[in-house]
Amino acid sequence: MKQITLIKPYEFEERNVEIPILKKGELLVQIKNIGICGTDIHAFHGNQPYFSYPRVLGHELSGIIVDAKIDNNSLLGKPVSVLPYLSCGKCNSCVRGKTNCCAQLKVMGVHVDGGFGEYISVPVDNIMVGREETDLEHLSMIEPLSISYHGIMRADILKNDWVIIFGAGPIGMGAILFAKSKTDKIILIDINQNRITYCKSTLGIEHSFNGNDETLFEEIKELTNGHFADIVIDATGNKKSIQQQLTFLGHGGKWILIGLQREDLHINHPEFHKREATLMSSRNATKHDFDQVMDKIDRKEIDPALLITHTLDFKEVVNSFSTFIGDQTLIKGIIKVDELKK
Ligand SMILES: [Zn+2]
Ligand SMILES: [Zn+2]
Repeated sequence: MKQITLIKPYEFEERNVEIPILKKGELLVQIKNIGICGTDIHAFHGNQPYFSYPRVLGHELSGIIVDAKIDNNSLLGKPVSVLPYLSCGKCNSCVRGKTNCCAQLKVMGVHVDGGFGEYISVPVDNIMVGREETDLEHLSMIEPLSISYHGIMRADILKNDWVIIFGAGPIGMGAILFAKSKTDKIILIDINQNRITYCKSTLGIEHSFNGNDETLFEEIKELTNGHFADIVIDATGNKKSIQQQLTFLGHGGKWILIGLQREDLHINHPEFHKREATLMSSRNATKHDFDQVMDKIDRKEIDPALLITHTLDFKEVVNSFSTFIGDQTLIKGIIKVDELKK
C-alpha cells in the first residue's frame, strides 16, 4: 500500500509499505478522507511541540472496514470515523472516563503513526461506526468537530449567555456551530478579515470584530451592556490573543482554552479574582463527544460541509502540500484517498 511519511520539516516521502497485519482486537480501515489540521501544518513547518520525525501524519480519518480480528464480522464494509486517541484505560483520568486527557495519551498521527496512507489498523474501541447514510467526508470531520463540542460542553452555556469565541479557524467555527444551539448571543473575534467575512456569510454570525480594532473593548462593552462575556472561548492558540482575553470576561464568567500554545501565561491575579473567574482547558474529545457529534450530523443539526473549503488528491500531497496549506482562503482541507484507485 502507499503511505506518505513526513521525513523532516517540509519533506514528505511516498513509500510502498506492507498493509498492517492485524492483532487481536484490531480492525483494518481502508482510508477514504484525511482532514488536515493545524497540528499537521505545525509538524510540516517544524514547530509542533512534543513531535519527532519521521512520522506518518493524519488523525482526522474516515474510511471503510475491510478486515477485522474481532469476534464478530458484522463491521465489515461499514463506514467509520477513527477516534485517534490511544488512552491507557488505567490512569486516574481514564478510570474517571476522561480518556481525552489520559496521562499516557498517544495520538495517532502525532505521537504514533497516523493515516496518511491507504490503510490503517485501529483498535476496535477507537472506531466509531457511521450510519449508512453518513457522508464519508463528514465522518472525517467528526474529530475536529468533537474538539469544539468538548470545549462547548465544558463551557456549559446557559440560554442568554454572551459567548465570545476568539479564533475563526475550524475549531472556532465548530464552537460557533455548537454554541448556536445554546444561545443567540455569540461574538466572534479574529484578526483575519477573510475568515470574519466567511463566518458572517456561511455561519450567520451577526456580531464579529477584528481583534486589531482599537475600539474593540468599547464596542464589546456596549454590545453586552457593560457586562462583557459570560463565557470566553479561546480557539486561537495564540499567546498574544489569550493574554488579553480575560479583559473581555464578565464577573462570574468562565474562560475555556481549547487552543494551545507553548509558553507561560501571565494572568493578573486581582483581575481574575474580582471576577471569581473559572479557567478551564479543553483537551481533545471523548468517545461520547464523537457519538454526540455524529448524532447531530445525522439529524442535520450541524453541517460539516460548511467548514470544508478545499480538497487535495492523495497523489498530490508530496508535491503540493506546501502550496495547498499556504492558500489564504483555506479553512478545512481534506485529502481524498478514494481517488487513488482510479
Ligand atoms: Zn486535528
Ligand atoms: Zn489513561
